[in-house]
Amino acid sequence: MSHDKTATTAVRAGIDSDTQHGAVVPPIYLTSTYSFAGFDEKRQFDYSRSGNPTRNMLGAAMADLEKGAHGVVTACGTAACHLATMLLDAGDLLVIPHDCYGGTYRLFTNLAAKGHFRLEIVDQHDEVALAKALAQKPKMVWVESPSNPLMRLVDIAKISELSHQVDALVVVDNTFMSPALQQPLTLGADLVVHSTTKFVNGHSDVVGGCLIAKSEEIGEQIAWWSNCIGVTGAPFDSYLTLRGIRTLLPRIRQHEENAKVLVEVLGQHPKVSAVHYPGLESHPSHELAKRQQFGFGGMVAFELDASLKEVKEFLAALKLFCLAESLGGVESLIAHPATMTHAAMDESARLAAGITDNLLRLSVGIEHVDDLKADLDAAFAAIA
Ligand code: PLP
Repeated sequence: MSHDKTATTAVRAGIDSDTQHGAVVPPIYLTSTYSFAGFDEKRQFDYSRSGNPTRNMLGAAMADLEKGAHGVVTACGTAACHLATMLLDAGDLLVIPHDCYGGTYRLFTNLAAKGHFRLEIVDQHDEVALAKALAQKPKMVWVESPSNPLMRLVDIAKISELSHQVDALVVVDNTFMSPALQQPLTLGADLVVHSTTKFVNGHSDVVGGCLIAKSEEIGEQIAWWSNCIGVTGAPFDSYLTLRGIRTLLPRIRQHEENAKVLVEVLGQHPKVSAVHYPGLESHPSHELAKRQQFGFGGMVAFELDASLKEVKEFLAALKLFCLAESLGGVESLIAHPATMTHAAMDESARLAAGITDNLLRLSVGIEHVDDLKADLDAAFAAIA
């Protein structure tokens, strides 16, 4: 867990800032528009696409948590990814990992096909392939660490240094970690993107996103573009997400504690052929995870040594782990990436990224871990 003041920053975001009534919890501003004080006398806010007190408070909290200069709250994580590409001109090169979230992959491949920018898809663990991509002088390098769903890590400090040598901006998708477990801007990245839908809000009741810039200058650019293309988030969603953020650190602590127990259960089961969790000493990036993360988190992927029929029976036997998209909520979820989160990738790209039909992804919730263990045991019994 982050050793600095992150817990305090998360709990205190906007607390006791209401000057009108002294409300301890900041009020929500649901208005779409604001009156002018007089002719040509705009107040701080004029229209809620451009600015809203509740949304701005969440943006400031995210910037504080990620140690950035400015945070722009968007309608979803995908909108935050889209917003980052507004920093690219037609002809600029964007380098992305071959194993990123399927929706991000779909967004970038389709925008590139329309000529918004050029795209190079690389395995960022392949140093030769990465060096080749960087030699083409990209304008932006995209990193997702740990990756969804296979929990592969990229050395953020190293890739930032190499990218800066060719003047590329580095964007890190920090959705799987949240600022409680990783702060990419302090490792050298220029921008951080979040699907706040996940751990940041943490209650599976809001779809939201955020793009945070390390510098004021880029912060101003993304704020301008967010209004121009209209991707800003709703005030009510921002209010709920601010509420979720207050418990981010204790939630993450419990997610991780439970995940570690389940990883052990999975690792010992004869029906499991592989467990992907950076907290395992056998994970190829365990040492890197210890260095660049403050913990290992609550996401676990594993491969069943089973036919697709058995995979379906395993999923059907689970009572607590809901078969559902998304992650990071207090409740436990399980996903079958090949047919769910990564269905937007064609089969060859999916298999190249290591997403096979027997791969499952757990978002480990904060229920009592004995109940989660029992649920997995019952599902294993169903395919014994
Ligand atoms: N990035 C990652 C790593 C994700 O897992 C997701 C969604 O699952 C997104 C971005 C997109 O976020 P949203 O669904 O809020 O648009």
